[in-house]
Amino acid sequence: MSAIPSPILRLPIVGQNSPLLAPLSPPAPPPARPLRATELGAFRYESKLEKRIAQKVGACAREFGLIEDGDRIMVCVSGGKDSYALLDVLLQLQRKAPVEFSLFAVNVDQGWPGYDTAAIEGHLRTRGIEYRMVRAHEIAAIVERVVRPEETGATPCSMCSRLRRGVLYGLAQEIGATKIALGHHFDDLAETLLMNLFFSGSLRAMPPKLASDDGKNVVIRPMAYVEESDLIKYAEERQYPVVRCSCPTCGLPEQQRQVIKRLISSMSEEHPGLRAQMLAAMKNVRGGHLLDKRLHGMKVDAIEPESDQV
Ligand code: SF4
Repeated sequence: MSAIPSPILRLPIVGQNSPLLAPLSPPAPPPARPLRATELGAFRYESKLEKRIAQKVGACAREFGLIEDGDRIMVCVSGGKDSYALLDVLLQLQRKAPVEFSLFAVNVDQGWPGYDTAAIEGHLRTRGIEYRMVRAHEIAAIVERVVRPEETGATPCSMCSRLRRGVLYGLAQEIGATKIALGHHFDDLAETLLMNLFFSGSLRAMPPKLASDDGKNVVIRPMAYVEESDLIKYAEERQYPVVRCSCPTCGLPEQQRQVIKRLISSMSEEHPGLRAQMLAAMKNVRGGHLLDKRLHGMKVDAIEPESDQV
């Protein structure tokens, strides 16, 4: 199968005047610095579930050094349950953490018809933080034109996520963000690991912290230890205004991700500790027991080309 050319190279330079970044509304005025836990008295979680999620985020942040003093973290809010939870947990962490950091929420409208940005903006207004609503309708247009998923049946997710990443990287530079926080959770990591194993010829998941190739951006995934089932319950508990991305591909049962999701779910019914074991395995990799010559200190003549990260 011939590789689909990446259009990321053809993306315009993202800047203040870029049509990709035309805000739907003026940014909210900068809020006052949130009070820290010591100023507010004892910090209380709303529920045991919230505490469990926050503790897992805190553990991941500590173990991988995700948040540092002075960070300006751009939180990507898609309107899904995961990104709403990420924003709230980071707001809580901001009040408790021993380091000072600021948060800036962004929403990227990729141009799929029916995407309800008004609901997302309404929610962000209630959070008292700076935010920006970004129009990047080029993404859906390019995906439709280049991949033509409805005609070819090809999955456009790889190209779509590259384009989105390009927009986010440009935006992070523009607003001076030191980190870009994404709402991927443990199930996303586990599914990606198996998708790459089964379909991409490489063994990798998603790192909790990743610097871009040019070193200008750092992506963090603070919810890498949080299971999706907890986020589903948390979204109900908080009554988030969950918005579907409206992309015609999203959630199709034949998508590789959905196939793997069903596999993990059905195996978990027989083996309830399966996800915990997968997490333990990802933290305990024995590279020497695999066949990658580079992990055995051997020279490789040429690195085999890798498929796109899913
Ligand atoms: S499901 Fe749709 S919006 Fe999500 S990555 Fe794939 S193409 Fe893009």
